[in-house]
Amino acid sequence: VIEKFWDLVILPTLNDHVSNVSADMGFMVFQESVLRGNRYVKLGFPKGTLDEVIAIPGSKFIENNGGNIYLGNSVIKLLYEDNKISTVELRDGTKLSADIIISAIPSNSLYNILPDELQSHKSFSILPKIEHASIVNIHIWLNTKIMNDQFINIIDSPLQWIFNKSLQDNKDQALDISISDSKNLLQKTTAEIIDLVFSELKDIFPRFNINFVEKYKIIKERKATFRCTPNSKKYRLTNISPVDNLYIAGDWVDTGWPSTMESAALSASNVVNEIESNNKNK
Ligand SMILES: Cc1cc2nc3c(=O)[nH]c(=O)nc-3n(C[C@H](O)[C@H](O)[C@H](O)COP(=O)(O)OP(=O)(O)OC[C@H]3O[C@@H](n4cnc5c(N)ncnc54)[C@H](O)[C@@H]3O)c2cc1C
Repeated sequence: VIEKFWDLVILPTLNDHVSNVSADMGFMVFQESVLRGNRYVKLGFPKGTLDEVIAIPGSKFIENNGGNIYLGNSVIKLLYEDNKISTVELRDGTKLSADIIISAIPSNSLYNILPDELQSHKSFSILPKIEHASIVNIHIWLNTKIMNDQFINIIDSPLQWIFNKSLQDNKDQALDISISDSKNLLQKTTAEIIDLVFSELKDIFPRFNINFVEKYKIIKERKATFRCTPNSKKYRLTNISPVDNLYIAGDWVDTGWPSTMESAALSASNVVNEIESNNKNK
Protein backbone atom coordinates (compact mmCIF):
# COMPACT_ATOMS: atom_id res chain seq x y z
CA VAL A 1 0.00 0.00 0.00
CA ILE A 2 2.86 2.38 0.85
CA GLU A 3 4.56 1.91 -2.53
CA LYS A 4 1.46 1.51 -4.67
CA PHE A 5 -0.74 4.21 -3.18
CA TRP A 6 1.02 6.72 -0.90
CA ASP A 7 4.32 6.93 -2.82
CA LEU A 8 2.48 7.19 -6.14
CA VAL A 9 1.43 10.70 -5.11
CA ILE A 10 4.07 11.67 -2.53
CA LEU A 11 7.24 10.67 -4.39
CA PRO A 12 6.75 12.89 -7.47
CA THR A 13 5.24 15.81 -5.56
CA LEU A 14 7.52 15.92 -2.50
CA ASN A 15 10.51 14.19 -4.16
CA ASP A 16 10.85 11.94 -1.12
CA HIS A 17 9.43 8.65 0.12
CA VAL A 18 6.31 8.93 2.26
CA SER A 19 8.21 7.55 5.28
CA ASN A 20 10.50 10.64 5.25
CA VAL A 21 8.06 13.50 4.74
CA SER A 22 6.29 15.60 7.34
CA ALA A 23 2.70 14.45 7.86
CA ASP A 24 1.57 18.07 7.54
CA MET A 25 3.03 18.42 4.03
CA GLY A 26 1.94 14.91 3.00
CA PHE A 27 -1.69 15.67 3.96
CA MET A 28 -1.50 19.03 2.21
CA VAL A 29 -0.46 17.34 -1.04
CA PHE A 30 -3.29 14.78 -0.80
CA GLN A 31 -5.76 17.51 0.06
CA GLU A 32 -4.73 19.63 -2.95
CA SER A 33 -4.11 16.90 -5.51
CA VAL A 34 -6.70 14.23 -4.72
CA LEU A 35 -9.41 15.41 -2.32
CA ARG A 36 -10.12 18.84 -3.84
CA GLY A 37 -11.83 17.16 -6.80
CA ASN A 38 -11.15 17.26 -10.49
CA ARG A 39 -12.65 20.73 -10.97
CA TYR A 40 -9.65 22.15 -9.10
CA VAL A 41 -6.81 19.82 -10.06
CA LYS A 42 -5.47 18.75 -13.42
CA LEU A 43 -2.42 16.61 -14.08
CA GLY A 44 -0.41 18.15 -16.88
CA PHE A 45 3.00 18.67 -18.38
CA PRO A 46 4.33 21.45 -20.61
CA LYS A 47 4.11 21.00 -24.37
CA GLY A 48 7.34 22.88 -24.95
CA THR A 49 10.53 23.19 -22.94
CA LEU A 50 10.28 25.23 -19.74
CA ASP A 51 12.41 27.84 -21.52
CA GLU A 52 9.74 28.19 -24.21
CA VAL A 53 6.83 28.12 -21.78
CA ILE A 54 8.20 30.23 -18.91
CA ALA A 55 11.71 31.67 -19.24
CA ILE A 56 11.51 33.29 -22.69
CA PRO A 57 8.07 34.94 -22.22
CA GLY A 58 9.20 36.00 -18.70
CA SER A 59 12.40 37.61 -20.03
CA LYS A 60 10.47 39.41 -22.77
CA PHE A 61 8.01 40.76 -20.21
CA ILE A 62 10.84 42.14 -18.04
CA GLU A 63 12.72 43.71 -20.97
CA ASN A 64 9.56 45.17 -22.55
CA ASN A 65 8.89 46.90 -19.24
CA GLY A 66 12.32 48.53 -19.02
CA GLY A 67 14.16 45.86 -16.99
CA ASN A 68 17.67 44.53 -17.66
CA ILE A 69 18.64 40.87 -17.46
CA TYR A 70 22.25 39.94 -16.67
CA LEU A 71 22.83 36.39 -17.90
CA GLY A 72 25.79 34.19 -16.94
CA ASN A 73 26.82 36.80 -14.39
CA SER A 74 25.66 35.64 -10.99
CA VAL A 75 25.54 37.66 -7.78
CA ILE A 76 28.63 36.92 -5.71
CA LYS A 77 28.06 39.23 -2.73
CA LEU A 78 25.48 41.45 -1.08
CA LEU A 79 27.07 44.42 0.69
CA TYR A 80 25.38 45.59 3.89
CA GLU A 81 25.22 49.02 5.54
CA ASP A 82 22.78 50.62 8.05
CA ASN A 83 20.56 47.52 7.98
CA LYS A 84 20.15 47.77 4.21
CA ILE A 85 21.67 45.97 1.22
CA SER A 86 23.68 48.83 -0.26
CA THR A 87 25.24 47.02 -3.23
CA VAL A 88 24.72 43.85 -5.23
CA GLU A 89 28.03 42.68 -6.65
CA LEU A 90 28.11 40.53 -9.80
CA ARG A 91 30.79 38.04 -10.84
CA ASP A 92 32.25 40.39 -13.49
CA GLY A 93 32.66 43.17 -10.91
CA THR A 94 29.50 45.12 -11.86
CA LYS A 95 28.00 46.82 -8.80
CA LEU A 96 24.26 47.49 -8.69
CA SER A 97 22.13 49.26 -6.12
CA ALA A 98 18.38 49.65 -5.72
CA ASP A 99 15.77 50.86 -3.24
CA ILE A 100 14.38 47.35 -2.96
CA ILE A 101 16.21 44.05 -3.50
CA ILE A 102 14.23 40.83 -4.03
CA SER A 103 16.18 37.61 -3.69
CA ALA A 104 14.65 34.81 -5.81
CA ILE A 105 17.51 32.32 -5.57
CA PRO A 106 17.68 28.99 -3.66
CA SER A 107 18.28 29.07 0.11
CA ASN A 108 21.87 27.79 -0.11
CA SER A 109 22.73 30.32 -2.84
CA LEU A 110 21.28 33.18 -0.78
CA TYR A 111 23.28 32.07 2.27
CA ASN A 112 26.50 32.04 0.22
CA ILE A 113 26.16 35.65 -0.97
CA LEU A 114 25.20 37.14 2.41
CA PRO A 115 27.79 39.25 4.21
CA ASP A 116 29.32 37.59 7.32
CA GLU A 117 27.23 39.63 9.77
CA LEU A 118 24.01 38.42 8.10
CA GLN A 119 25.17 34.80 7.79
CA SER A 120 25.40 34.72 11.58
CA HIS A 121 22.05 36.51 12.09
CA LYS A 122 19.47 34.17 13.68
CA SER A 123 17.13 34.45 10.68
CA PHE A 124 19.74 33.42 8.13
CA SER A 125 22.07 31.14 10.12
CA ILE A 126 19.45 28.35 9.86
CA LEU A 127 19.50 28.31 6.04
CA PRO A 128 22.20 25.58 5.75
CA LYS A 129 19.80 23.30 7.67
CA ILE A 130 17.45 23.17 4.68
CA GLU A 131 18.11 19.79 3.07
CA HIS A 132 17.75 18.95 -0.61
CA ALA A 133 16.79 15.87 -2.61
CA SER A 134 17.86 14.85 -6.09
CA ILE A 135 16.07 14.05 -9.35
CA VAL A 136 17.60 12.15 -12.25
CA ASN A 137 16.13 12.70 -15.71
CA ILE A 138 16.97 10.38 -18.58
CA HIS A 139 16.10 11.65 -22.06
CA ILE A 140 16.05 8.98 -24.77
CA TRP A 141 15.52 9.50 -28.49
CA LEU A 142 14.30 6.39 -30.38
CA ASN A 143 13.94 5.81 -34.12
CA THR A 144 10.84 3.67 -33.47
CA LYS A 145 7.80 4.45 -31.37
CA ILE A 146 7.29 2.17 -28.34
CA MET A 147 4.83 4.11 -26.15
CA ASN A 148 1.37 5.44 -27.07
CA ASP A 149 0.32 7.14 -23.83
CA GLN A 150 1.32 10.71 -23.03
CA PHE A 151 2.77 9.62 -19.71
CA ILE A 152 2.76 6.54 -17.51
CA ASN A 153 3.65 5.69 -13.93
CA ILE A 154 5.29 2.33 -13.43
CA ILE A 155 4.75 0.71 -10.07
CA ASP A 156 7.54 -1.70 -9.06
CA SER A 157 10.10 -0.11 -11.37
CA PRO A 158 12.90 2.32 -10.46
CA LEU A 159 11.95 4.32 -13.59
CA GLN A 160 8.83 5.70 -11.81
CA TRP A 161 7.44 8.05 -14.53
CA ILE A 162 7.90 8.07 -18.32
CA PHE A 163 6.75 11.06 -20.40
CA ASN A 164 6.19 10.82 -24.14
CA LYS A 165 7.56 14.06 -25.62
CA SER A 166 6.66 13.27 -29.27
CA LEU A 167 3.65 14.15 -31.37
CA GLN A 168 1.12 11.31 -31.73
CA ASP A 169 1.76 10.71 -35.46
CA ASN A 170 5.58 10.70 -35.22
CA LYS A 171 7.28 7.44 -36.16
CA ASP A 172 10.25 8.16 -33.93
CA GLN A 173 9.94 9.01 -30.25
CA ALA A 174 11.51 11.10 -27.50
CA LEU A 175 10.97 9.81 -23.95
CA ASP A 176 11.74 11.56 -20.69
CA ILE A 177 12.17 9.32 -17.66
CA SER A 178 11.92 11.16 -14.36
CA ILE A 179 13.28 9.50 -11.21
CA SER A 180 12.53 11.27 -7.92
CA ASP A 181 14.58 10.93 -4.72
CA SER A 182 17.28 9.39 -6.87
CA LYS A 183 20.17 9.33 -4.38
CA ASN A 184 20.88 5.67 -5.27
CA LEU A 185 21.67 6.72 -8.84
CA LEU A 186 23.94 9.68 -8.08
CA GLN A 187 27.05 7.55 -7.58
CA LYS A 188 26.33 5.32 -10.57
CA THR A 189 28.14 5.84 -13.87
CA THR A 190 26.32 6.72 -17.09
CA ALA A 191 26.86 3.14 -18.34
CA GLU A 192 25.37 1.65 -15.16
CA ILE A 193 22.31 3.93 -15.29
CA ILE A 194 21.64 3.35 -18.98
CA ASP A 195 21.99 -0.44 -18.58
CA LEU A 196 19.37 -0.31 -15.83
CA VAL A 197 17.08 1.89 -17.97
CA PHE A 198 17.34 -0.36 -21.05
CA SER A 199 16.61 -3.48 -19.02
CA GLU A 200 13.57 -1.82 -17.37
CA LEU A 201 12.31 -0.52 -20.74
CA LYS A 202 12.49 -4.06 -22.11
CA ASP A 203 10.26 -5.26 -19.23
CA ILE A 204 7.78 -2.40 -19.62
CA PHE A 205 7.66 -2.36 -23.45
CA PRO A 206 8.51 -5.89 -24.69
CA ARG A 207 9.04 -4.55 -28.25
CA PHE A 208 11.81 -2.19 -27.08
CA ASN A 209 15.12 -2.95 -28.75
CA ILE A 210 18.48 -1.28 -27.99
CA ASN A 211 18.91 -0.71 -31.74
CA PHE A 212 15.98 1.75 -31.58
CA VAL A 213 18.11 4.13 -29.46
CA GLU A 214 19.49 7.07 -31.44
CA LYS A 215 20.93 8.96 -28.46
CA TYR A 216 20.35 9.60 -24.78
CA LYS A 217 21.19 12.17 -22.14
CA ILE A 218 21.27 11.75 -18.36
CA ILE A 219 20.84 14.82 -16.14
CA LYS A 220 21.55 14.46 -12.42
CA GLU A 221 20.09 17.34 -10.37
CA ARG A 222 21.70 16.83 -6.96
CA LYS A 223 19.78 19.65 -5.26
CA ALA A 224 16.59 19.47 -7.30
CA THR A 225 14.13 20.34 -4.51
CA PHE A 226 14.23 21.17 -0.82
CA ARG A 227 13.08 18.34 1.46
CA CYS A 228 9.83 18.55 3.42
CA THR A 229 10.95 16.44 6.37
CA PRO A 230 9.36 16.76 9.84
CA ASN A 231 10.41 20.09 11.41
CA SER A 232 11.80 21.47 8.13
CA LYS A 233 9.06 24.13 8.09
CA LYS A 234 10.87 26.07 10.82
CA TYR A 235 13.82 26.70 8.48
CA ARG A 236 11.68 28.28 5.76
CA LEU A 237 11.88 32.09 5.95
CA THR A 238 9.07 34.56 5.42
CA ASN A 239 9.04 37.02 2.51
CA ILE A 240 10.05 39.86 4.82
CA SER A 241 13.66 39.73 5.95
CA PRO A 242 15.21 41.49 8.95
CA VAL A 243 17.08 43.70 6.45
CA ASP A 244 15.04 46.83 5.63
CA ASN A 245 15.20 46.69 1.82
CA LEU A 246 15.58 42.91 1.27
CA TYR A 247 12.58 40.71 0.39
CA ILE A 248 12.78 36.99 -0.23
CA ALA A 249 11.00 34.92 -2.87
CA GLY A 250 11.57 31.36 -4.04
CA ASP A 251 9.78 28.04 -3.61
CA TRP A 252 11.59 27.44 -0.28
CA VAL A 253 10.04 30.51 1.39
CA ASP A 254 7.24 29.53 3.79
CA THR A 255 4.27 29.43 1.42
CA GLY A 256 2.75 26.24 2.83
CA TRP A 257 3.53 24.52 -0.48
CA PRO A 258 6.29 22.00 -1.20
CA SER A 259 9.19 22.63 -3.60
CA THR A 260 7.10 23.35 -6.70
CA MET A 261 6.51 26.00 -9.31
CA GLU A 262 3.27 26.84 -7.47
CA SER A 263 5.26 27.68 -4.36
CA ALA A 264 7.74 29.81 -6.34
CA ALA A 265 4.92 31.74 -8.05
CA LEU A 266 3.00 32.19 -4.79
CA SER A 267 6.11 33.47 -2.99
CA ALA A 268 6.70 36.03 -5.76
CA SER A 269 3.11 37.22 -5.63
CA ASN A 270 3.33 37.49 -1.81
CA VAL A 271 6.49 39.63 -2.10
CA VAL A 272 4.77 42.01 -4.51
CA ASN A 273 1.79 42.33 -2.13
CA GLU A 274 4.13 43.01 0.82
CA ILE A 275 6.00 45.73 -1.06
CA GLU A 276 2.77 47.36 -2.25
CA SER A 277 1.26 47.38 1.22
CA ASN A 278 4.52 48.77 2.71
CA ASN A 279 4.49 51.56 0.14
CA LYS A 280 0.87 52.39 0.96
CA ASN A 281 1.66 52.58 4.68
CA LYS A 282 4.57 54.99 4.15
C1 LIG B 1 14.29 17.88 -12.54
C2 LIG B 1 13.25 18.72 -11.83
C3 LIG B 1 11.90 18.46 -12.04
C4 LIG B 1 10.93 19.23 -11.41
N1 LIG B 1 9.62 18.97 -11.68
C5 LIG B 1 8.67 19.79 -11.17
C6 LIG B 1 7.30 19.63 -11.53
O1 LIG B 1 6.94 18.73 -12.30
N2 LIG B 1 6.39 20.50 -11.01
C7 LIG B 1 6.76 21.51 -10.17
O2 LIG B 1 5.90 22.30 -9.76
N3 LIG B 1 8.04 21.67 -9.80
C8 LIG B 1 9.00 20.85 -10.28
N4 LIG B 1 10.32 21.01 -9.92
C9 LIG B 1 10.63 22.02 -8.90
C10 LIG B 1 10.64 23.40 -9.52
O3 LIG B 1 11.55 23.43 -10.61
C11 LIG B 1 11.10 24.40 -8.46
O4 LIG B 1 10.23 24.32 -7.35
C12 LIG B 1 11.06 25.82 -9.01
O5 LIG B 1 11.88 25.93 -10.16
C13 LIG B 1 11.57 26.78 -7.96
O6 LIG B 1 11.54 28.06 -8.53
P1 LIG B 1 12.40 29.22 -7.91
O7 LIG B 1 12.16 30.41 -8.77
O8 LIG B 1 12.16 29.31 -6.45
O9 LIG B 1 13.93 28.73 -8.04
P2 LIG B 1 14.74 28.24 -9.28
O10 LIG B 1 13.86 27.80 -10.40
O11 LIG B 1 15.75 27.28 -8.73
O12 LIG B 1 15.46 29.56 -9.78
C14 LIG B 1 16.51 30.13 -9.05
C15 LIG B 1 17.45 30.77 -10.05
O13 LIG B 1 18.45 31.49 -9.33
C16 LIG B 1 19.65 31.35 -10.03
N5 LIG B 1 20.75 31.64 -9.08
C17 LIG B 1 21.25 30.86 -8.09
N6 LIG B 1 22.24 31.50 -7.44
C18 LIG B 1 22.35 32.72 -8.04
C19 LIG B 1 23.21 33.83 -7.83
N7 LIG B 1 24.14 33.83 -6.87
N8 LIG B 1 23.07 34.90 -8.64
C20 LIG B 1 22.12 34.92 -9.62
N9 LIG B 1 21.29 33.90 -9.87
C21 LIG B 1 21.41 32.81 -9.08
C22 LIG B 1 19.65 29.91 -10.52
O14 LIG B 1 20.55 29.76 -11.59
C23 LIG B 1 18.19 29.76 -10.94
O15 LIG B 1 18.01 30.13 -12.28
C24 LIG B 1 11.31 20.26 -10.52
C25 LIG B 1 12.67 20.52 -10.29
C26 LIG B 1 13.63 19.76 -10.93
C27 LIG B 1 15.09 20.06 -10.69
